[in-house]
Amino acid sequence: MKIISNFNHCLKLAVSPLLLLILFLLPACNGPSSDAPIGTVLGRDQVNDASKPLPNEAPPDTSNGNPNSGENSSTRLGDSCHTSDPAHLCLSLKYVVYENLQAKAIVSGQEALQNLALINKTWLQCNIGFEIGEYLSVDPQKYGLSFNTSSMSELSQIRSEFDDNSTLLVVTTGAWSGSLGAGAANAWTTMPGGGTYGAILEEPVGNYPNIIAHELGHYLNLSHVSDTSDVMNPVIYQGSTQLTTNQCEMARSAASYYWKTMLR
Ligand SMILES: [Zn+2]
Repeated sequence: MKIISNFNHCLKLAVSPLLLLILFLLPACNGPSSDAPIGTVLGRDQVNDASKPLPNEAPPDTSNGNPNSGENSSTRLGDSCHTSDPAHLCLSLKYVVYENLQAKAIVSGQEALQNLALINKTWLQCNIGFEIGEYLSVDPQKYGLSFNTSSMSELSQIRSEFDDNSTLLVVTTGAWSGSLGAGAANAWTTMPGGGTYGAILEEPVGNYPNIIAHELGHYLNLSHVSDTSDVMNPVIYQGSTQLTTNQCEMARSAASYYWKTMLR
């Protein structure tokens, strides 16, 4: 489904160098302004599956036997989300960002921590927190990946390359191109139980914490809802920050069921 938004206009214009001048005339391209109304579209996403009821059986093994797992020493970026509150759930993220041609990370460690602070503010409603268990800035070419991800199969390749059994994977790639860039989505996430997991977003929305908070909602088995003020609305607005009691219950169950090894 196509959504018309300022943001998607930006993505389309961005591919034509002849229209670069126009980009300067479109403030929406520069990111969300702090006083934007709820109606400002930040982006939208797609999931690979729908949420499922939790079965009464042992949780699935989320390990994929990835030989790269643990290859990089796991160094946490920033504070742990672990607290003394036994009801608080603290989940560890692997925050992977691509490096551009100048070998500069497209989301710096500091920006990642700023994003995390806002993500945690949103998820505090459910007494769930996240920490960056590992921040990894990578040259995609060294992994046989292109900077501008262009297809669904490459999204699968990214997940297979970076997922492990102890962190939830969030990857920020370069702006999407090809069939992926032609679509309306700015992010794709695999729902739990839907195969190799991982949330992947493109650079233009890489510093939009609302979108990352939304993708983490999919990780926690939440589907889309139609309330624009809700985190899980499929079109993500600046004001899409609310979570209901039911969503919190579902997310907390999913965290304990699917992502036990990611809890800290
Ligand atoms: Zn979504």
